[in-house]
Amino acid sequence: MKILIINAGSSSLKYQLIDMDHESIIAKGLVERIGIEGGKLTHKYGDKTYTVTPDAIKDHTEAMNLVLEALLSKEHGVISSISEIGAVGHRVLHGGEKFTASCIIDQACMDAIEENIPLGPLHNPANLMGIRACQAVMPDTPMVAVFDTAFHQTMPRTSYLYGVPYEYYEKYHIRRYGFHGTSHRFVSARALEVLGLKDKPSKIVICHLGNGSSLSACVDGKCFDTSMGLTPLEGVLMGTRSGDLDPAVVECIANNEHLTPSETLNVLNKKSGLLGLSGVSSDMRDVRSAAAEGNAMAKVTLDIWAYRIRKYIGAYAAAMGGLDAIIFTAGIGENDGEGRADVLKGLEFLGVKLDAEKNAKVRGVEAEISAPDSKVKVWVIPTNEELAIARDTLMLTSK
Ligand code: ADP
Repeated sequence: MKILIINAGSSSLKYQLIDMDHESIIAKGLVERIGIEGGKLTHKYGDKTYTVTPDAIKDHTEAMNLVLEALLSKEHGVISSISEIGAVGHRVLHGGEKFTASCIIDQACMDAIEENIPLGPLHNPANLMGIRACQAVMPDTPMVAVFDTAFHQTMPRTSYLYGVPYEYYEKYHIRRYGFHGTSHRFVSARALEVLGLKDKPSKIVICHLGNGSSLSACVDGKCFDTSMGLTPLEGVLMGTRSGDLDPAVVECIANNEHLTPSETLNVLNKKSGLLGLSGVSSDMRDVRSAAAEGNAMAKVTLDIWAYRIRKYIGAYAAAMGGLDAIIFTAGIGENDGEGRADVLKGLEFLGVKLDAEKNAKVRGVEAEISAPDSKVKVWVIPTNEELAIARDTLMLTSK
């Protein structure tokens, strides 16, 4: 079966068509600047890329029509009829407490995504637009929603409640939800396989380190705690997000810079992290090159980045009462050997022993990077959120 994966943002729509018989990508692409001047579709198949730049792409339905035209195109297409697409899997940001797993999209599911808009005010409306656009152009194709928050719903209350008046949890659902759940689930399941711990007790920390980064503590394959919170702002230092800070910083920045609370949050989300501290870039490669060229702030930024992640690993080892493995994934986690070595520096007391030579060589592939006698195993396991969404979609639609 061929499955189309859709990740809709407010002005963009990413897609991948996956052949589930071989779990391989047939085509993928991106529609940018939906509803804004200069809309563009970039479609990739095999080693070819083809772009369409219409005058304007009015809305997500027009974007979806362009995607289908590209997939069906005589010249650049990869399928000959829409009916070849067996199902569509949608990435949805916030499932709140309603969704502990992926689900078939029906009216009740759409209503629940809508109810969760206050928790995901930017993403959930965009995700709904993507779903509605697909329903408009492919009315007979079954669809599945896969939530970024679902994997973390197994957290105990001690992990997810904040120390604020309890009535705010009851009235406004303020609590830790966690994100990147599809990635944490995919990687932790694979970790249990490679570690031979599938049906055994296990305590694992997953470090999803990309532009956005989050850690999760997984006990017996289930999420016990995670670093992102009510929103993706909490946790470790990210490309442009500050991660953890004293909430009083918000008022202090707002007063001094004459900003509203939401403008201040914008600074914490978009102008902080690697970018804000280093003043160089939000991209780890740029910060690393600047540090290598002697930029002192870039060097400090790298140290803070690693230190924050190390603190979380230590905290999670204590919270779980042990640690069997640390797994690195996503853009930085999979590719940046120096970053991984920095994070693990000083964790020898926990039983972590890195194979430095091996670690330096591993890029974007699954590999063990701890020494054979390391008590805590360390692995790089590439994530594949689209494949995880496709597997759920296949499973739910072939029932
Ligand atoms: P997201 O999906 O959150 O946008 P990714 O998982 O693609 O992000 O990760 C992007 C990050 O990965 C960037 O900071 C980028 O610099 C970093 N990255 C990619 N390749 C390397 C590399 N070889 N060395 C260091 N960092 C890398």
